[in-house]
Amino acid sequence: LIGPKECRQLAENFNEMSRKLEESFTKLQQSEASRKELVANVSHDLRTPLASIQSFVEALQDDIIEDKEVFDQYLKTIQLETKRLGYLIHDLFQLTQLESEAEKFEPELYYVDKLIIEALENQYVHIEEKKLHVHVDLPEKLPAVAVMPEKVMRVVVNLLQNAVRYSKSGGELYVEVQDEGHVVRIRIIDEGEGIPLEEQAFIFERFYRVEKSRSKEFGGSGLGLAICKSIVELHGGEIGVSSEQGKGSTFYFTIPIMKELSR
Ligand code: ADP
Repeated sequence: LIGPKECRQLAENFNEMSRKLEESFTKLQQSEASRKELVANVSHDLRTPLASIQSFVEALQDDIIEDKEVFDQYLKTIQLETKRLGYLIHDLFQLTQLESEAEKFEPELYYVDKLIIEALENQYVHIEEKKLHVHVDLPEKLPAVAVMPEKVMRVVVNLLQNAVRYSKSGGELYVEVQDEGHVVRIRIIDEGEGIPLEEQAFIFERFYRVEKSRSKEFGGSGLGLAICKSIVELHGGEIGVSSEQGKGSTFYFTIPIMKELSR
């Protein structure tokens, strides 16, 4: 026979168990919903360029285009859409790798200044094209960090790419690096169109675009910032944004410094 004390204990245990069960169920529902949403987004984003490629290929096959210029234009579109599809598939693969925890953290010793310079070189053509003035603030003595260099490169390149994309021609662009003791903080600041406050929390979600048509015009996949977030978190850092519409955006991320690695 069990007394009132045991009864209370049993009830408490039961309550605790059902609370946990409900919590797991909600989580499961959420991940199921997010999986469904991902599949829907992916299908849509893959189907659109595919449909476009298909219709242009059919037009070429029909042999009705006599104008050489139109013919070349069709070929160019097919090339462009195929390229876009390739980027999308690549990004999607990277993101699922990162999110499925298949990606192991295998860092090596690297220097932040080197990463910044390489990323700037990577974006040089686009910076020139837009006639942007770049101001780089790199402290002389930066500590070495334990990173997967090509992954962190991807973050810097992505943030730079966005800053260039959403800047007005001839604008200013700032890249600032700060040693804060326990982390290195990297800021990429543009004076572009900015992001509305109510949207800032969502831009790191996969496929989120502030203005679908605007981003489409720039050819983004809407996966860039989601990939950046996963990479930064894999490194134990954090990523964020502060932005004012019409004035510009500041994107930042941090990389933890391991003391024994400092130069
Ligand atoms: P995309 O590939 O579409 O650029 P991202 O994940 O890189 O996707 O960015 C998500 C959205 O956040 C973009 O579509 C854009 O609307 C907005 N965004 C990102 N960076 C900036 C920026 N520097 N200035 C203004 N808007 C930005």
